[in-house]
Amino acid sequence: MPLVPMRQILDEAAKGGYGVGAFNVNNMEQIQAIMQAANDTNSPVIIQASRGALKYSKMIYLKKLMEAAVEEFPHIPVSMHLDHGNSLDTCKQAIELGFTSVMMDGSLAEDGKSPNSYEQNVAVTAQVVEYAHPLGVTVEGELGCLGGIEDGHGAGLSAEEVDEHLTDPNQTEDFVAKTGLDALAVAIGTSHGAYKSGRKDPKTGEMLPPKLAMERIHEIHKRMPNCHMVMHGSSSVPKELVDIINQYGGNMPDTFGIPVEQIQDGIKHGVRKVNVDTDSRLAITGAIRKVFVESPEKFDPRDYLKPARDAAYEVYLARMKAFGQAGHAGDYEPMTLEDAKSLYK
Ligand SMILES: [Zn+2]
Repeated sequence: MPLVPMRQILDEAAKGGYGVGAFNVNNMEQIQAIMQAANDTNSPVIIQASRGALKYSKMIYLKKLMEAAVEEFPHIPVSMHLDHGNSLDTCKQAIELGFTSVMMDGSLAEDGKSPNSYEQNVAVTAQVVEYAHPLGVTVEGELGCLGGIEDGHGAGLSAEEVDEHLTDPNQTEDFVAKTGLDALAVAIGTSHGAYKSGRKDPKTGEMLPPKLAMERIHEIHKRMPNCHMVMHGSSSVPKELVDIINQYGGNMPDTFGIPVEQIQDGIKHGVRKVNVDTDSRLAITGAIRKVFVESPEKFDPRDYLKPARDAAYEVYLARMKAFGQAGHAGDYEPMTLEDAKSLYK
């Protein structure tokens, strides 16, 4: 099976009333763990790469690893998605490489830092849609700005600024109509990375978990029941994974995640793509640290990369079950990019 257009995976998820995990990858072990988990749960899945991941993997390696993934598991519908594209050129590059979906994050300027105006966001997102749709490629856009910085991408907003940059449900219909995008990333108070909170208890000074504006997702879904929403920064940052890292010499205080129950509430209200990156990073790092501390005599990378891959697998497996995509791989005949062109005519 070739890589399938993400639009189909999201349309089918909407029909089935479930969400699909979109997992970030940089290397072979992550791709293998995701595909194994998708196979074992019979899940359709989205694999995504950021600009940082493309740079790290020198692009061609990622492309070939994805080809291997679909060859090994031909019955699993899998999309290859560009996470946080910053310009039409970056999106074109990913499409040339064989990606079946791209995100044009027009909420930020090309530097990936400064917030764009609404008009700038509409213009650049529409440009990417105009380029991608005739090729059958799916486009995700973003309205509002997320907190946090990851891989050098993000506005680095403070807790107060995040509140000002949440997605405005009054703008979403206009944004979707003017751009023609397939999936809408919403800013509802999640942020990238493991340190999701800039909020402190004013009395005790203790860090507080992020405050999510789930009502904005409910409102957007009420107004546009057919709009596929995307939750970014949706790792749960499980305490047990952070504890393993800290138990074996790590130093990660004040981490916070998004509880799976809140993601499931989003899925009930139109969220179809759930971005998870940090949780697999935590699992991998914890597993490697454990081997280093418990068996300092070991030096074969397989001795720690295999446990790392196994730990990431457990995360993907749990998320696929929690988001509801498990069991749905065989529900439909996968489309090619050629087939998807007709969706946009
Ligand atoms: Zn993101």
